[in-house]
Amino acid sequence: MSAVFSNSKNTFNVNLSEIEGVGDFPCPKCSTVFSPDDLTKDVYTILSLQENDNQSASMVIQCNKCKNIININGLAV
Ligand SMILES: [Zn+2]
Repeated sequence: MSAVFSNSKNTFNVNLSEIEGVGDFPCPKCSTVFSPDDLTKDVYTILSLQENDNQSASMVIQCNKCKNIININGLAV
């Protein structure tokens, strides 16, 4: 799983298209599991959401537990 992440400066980047399954992935720092389909927002806060085209979107989230910033690419829309 660690190969999915790349760390630039203080933010992590994850590409959901490289993750098998339903798209759940752990926080790189505290291992809290995020689910992109989880709309309760208990474990993360969405800082920004941007549609790139009709097929993918990117999202910046912040882990509510460790405050880590994570850039998510490859979201299906
Ligand atoms: Zn975290």
